[in-house]
Amino acid sequence: MGFFSPFRAARRKRALERFPIDDELWDWAIKEHKIFRWLGAGSGSEPTDRSRLRELSTLFLVEKRFDPVGGVELDDELKVSIAAQACLPLLGLDLDWYSGWSTIIVTPREYDVTKRDVDDAGVVHEYEDEFSGEAFDLGPVALSRVDIEASGWGDGYNVVIHEMAHKLDGGRDGVYDGCPPLHGGMDNGAWREAFSAAYESLRASLDPPASRRGRGRRAKRGPRIDSYAAESPDEFFAVATEYFYERPALLRSEYPEVYRQLALFFRRDPIGD
Ligand SMILES: [Zn+2]
Repeated sequence: MGFFSPFRAARRKRALERFPIDDELWDWAIKEHKIFRWLGAGSGSEPTDRSRLRELSTLFLVEKRFDPVGGVELDDELKVSIAAQACLPLLGLDLDWYSGWSTIIVTPREYDVTKRDVDDAGVVHEYEDEFSGEAFDLGPVALSRVDIEASGWGDGYNVVIHEMAHKLDGGRDGVYDGCPPLHGGMDNGAWREAFSAAYESLRASLDPPASRRGRGRRAKRGPRIDSYAAESPDEFFAVATEYFYERPALLRSEYPEVYRQLALFFRRDPIGD
């Protein structure tokens, strides 16, 4: 919170009044995506998670700029669908967690990027990598339309939440290490312990030691979450966040401590029992 926050608050209040999301469009977005089913509609005067999500999404649409490339058609359904999914992790946080960047590039589908790495011997390696989305440090977020449309079905895959998780991870402290700045009262050590144990166990399940592969031994159970999480601790956090909203029961049964830490960080429990 800085000097300008009272002005920002007033501006946001005006924006909510001036640029409301159309009722029909909003109802469509909520019904269309399975991941919103646990949000209470409520009946009393207390603002519910559903109405809070609508407010956050409205402001998200006002404050972020959409930049379609490659001839992609960007209709209102797609924009609201991106906004609502992007704001789901903010229910217990606030929109300032996404400050410092403003553009969402929407590509038609996955895209190839030529990556260049220099190894320890100074040799340059060039390779093609395929991206369904990307969160640039201090910069825009890129999302592919095909992948946005594949998100929100409750099957574990969500490119929007994945890229937003990277922003939560490093957007504030500038460090993309799978650990966002934690709230007061949360225990940094407990977070690190939960995530590193889960990360190591996932990696071990992907690469079983030779001694375990022999005949007569029961095959080790493969991972139940996307093995992309084994790439690095920051990818583990992004993938775990996808599962937290897409398949919370699976994440909780697989990595209960990770689930617990995420529920503390997001201040929500999608299973809610
Ligand atoms: Zn990622």
